[in-house]
Amino acid sequence: PKLQAALESYRTLEPYAARPAVHVYTLDEIEAGIERAQFEPYFQPKIRIATGEVEGAEALARWIHPRDGVVPPAAFIDILETSGRIDSLTMRLLDRAADECLKWRARGMRTTFAVNISLALLNDVTLAERLAALVARKGLEPRDVVFEVTETAAATHVGRTLENLSRLRMVGFGLSIDDFGTGYSSMEQLMRVPFTELKIDQTFVRNAATLPRSRTVLATSIEVAHRLGMVAVSEGVETNAQLQVLKDLGCDFAQGYLLGRPMASGEFLAWMARAHPAP
Ligand code: C2E
Ligand code: MG
Ligand code: MG
Ligand code: MG
Repeated sequence: PKLQAALESYRTLEPYAARPAVHVYTLDEIEAGIERAQFEPYFQPKIRIATGEVEGAEALARWIHPRDGVVPPAAFIDILETSGRIDSLTMRLLDRAADECLKWRARGMRTTFAVNISLALLNDVTLAERLAALVARKGLEPRDVVFEVTETAAATHVGRTLENLSRLRMVGFGLSIDDFGTGYSSMEQLMRVPFTELKIDQTFVRNAATLPRSRTVLATSIEVAHRLGMVAVSEGVETNAQLQVLKDLGCDFAQGYLLGRPMASGEFLAWMARAHPAP
């Protein structure tokens, strides 16, 4: 039912998305799709609120399924994570996003990109090295890339997870705590990991224009970010009223359908070239 709801919301919110898949995919089907290079990053712009510049873009995984069309992450992330097989998808997405970033560079844009990594990957002590090697091989630098960490489950090896996060930061990657305020993300982690960015969950943004208590949570999160030397990003911005609240509260960056939907790479390039200033 949760998956069905997620797929339904794609139909209404992402007009270019194909009809929801008719069935739930098996791990074998998903992995075959990754091997056949059917997974692609869609890019959603991250806008600097003060200037309207496109500071970065979040790479969101989409399965371009030969039969079912564009399949959203709700249909494959969970199963890959719980079976310990998310690694190949992440490397594929990073590789493709880096290629796109090179095209942006060739056009004089300094836009960075973000890739989501799941906690499950952070048990691997070779992770930071492998990610850094891939980025170097492309001729990019770690500061061109932000890793967004989403906690969908409590860490199993807390010590190693924290060490790996710190290592990613040490080699120069940006580090974002995703969906802050929900799930397992906590103040405790903020103290122990040198995150560069705090990404406030869309539930708080959703209600900030109408509910004073949501607005207070939002204001407090932005202040926590700034006092710890991080930038604050709000996701899920859908209305001008919400954007105005974020401006008033001093939030640095915004992401959401109001500013730009996740777009296929070619579409994103055209969108940037059309009307949107890049730093
Ligand atoms: P997330 O990282 O928090 O990504 C934001 C999600 O909110 C995206 O959904 C995006 O399409 C959606 N969104 C953006 N703007 C709006 C808006 O204004 N309103 C609403 N209602 N939604 C908006 P998406 O693409 O379905 O991704 C869902 C989650 O899947 C992501 O949440 C992320 O946790 C995970 N994910 C996506 N790609 C990857 C990946 O390559 N690796 C891993 N580990 N996780 C991924
Ligand atoms: Mg994210
Ligand atoms: Mg998020
Ligand atoms: Mg989210």
